[in-house]
Amino acid sequence: MAESKVRKPAAEPVVKAAAKPGKPESRLAMVRRARKINRVLAETYPYAHPELDFESPFELLVATVLSAQTTDLRVNQTTPALFAKYPTPEDMAMAVPEEMEEIIRPTGFFRAKTKSLIGLSVALRDRFGGEVPGRLADLVTLPGVGRKTANVVLGNAFGVPGITVDTHFGRLVRRWKWTEQEDPEKVEAEIATIFPKSEWTMLSHRVVFHGRRVCHARRPACGACPVAPLCPSYGEGETDPEKARKLLKYEMGGQPGQRLKPPSDYPGSPAPALGAG
Ligand code: SF4
Repeated sequence: MAESKVRKPAAEPVVKAAAKPGKPESRLAMVRRARKINRVLAETYPYAHPELDFESPFELLVATVLSAQTTDLRVNQTTPALFAKYPTPEDMAMAVPEEMEEIIRPTGFFRAKTKSLIGLSVALRDRFGGEVPGRLADLVTLPGVGRKTANVVLGNAFGVPGITVDTHFGRLVRRWKWTEQEDPEKVEAEIATIFPKSEWTMLSHRVVFHGRRVCHARRPACGACPVAPLCPSYGEGETDPEKARKLLKYEMGGQPGQRLKPPSDYPGSPAPALGAG
């Protein structure tokens, strides 16, 4: 099942395509290498998808606001109760703050998030006819909605290509030397020059999938990484294949995903509901 769909990690990664020490890689070589990495990720995670559960642009917008400073899993475990009580912007605009705070408490920063959610629902009701707008310029006028949130919503609920720079994406693209920028907006602008627009949304999902499963912040599993031959940071983590394989955290190892309701082609198991495990 899961294993047959997952590309096997390279047993003995050879770092031959990455820049040689002391010899700077040309822009052209970096772009070619970046596109190869994207192809390997596409083969490795053909089922990459946004890891927030949603059934409408409004649900995705709310879930993305809630995802600040917490895991997608925790958000997915919290939103079923939230959307049961407040299914539309009109309902959420009328929420009693203390009641909403109790529901979203598990996601952290629940007072500020409640304020944003009620504020953005009021704005949707009063300024956008109760609909989530499909334009970046409109989305970023909503309380609590920055460029990153707007791009997530545009890319996944409206099919508008967008690059989403979260903590995983920023870490990995710097490890791959696609950019040296730290500021998410600058990272987004530089990565946009490397890939065609049509790749932007899926590239974002694939990179985040790889960051969650293999290229962890603290101990990347270099010895079991399918992009190791293309990675200038190979060796930053565990290179022993056996030890590295133990660090993998994904479908392949039987771990559940982040979503309670994953897409139908997802080969792993759904995440447990809140309190179920
Ligand atoms: S796990 Fe290691 S080899 Fe793979 S992308 Fe991350 S740093 Fe590079």
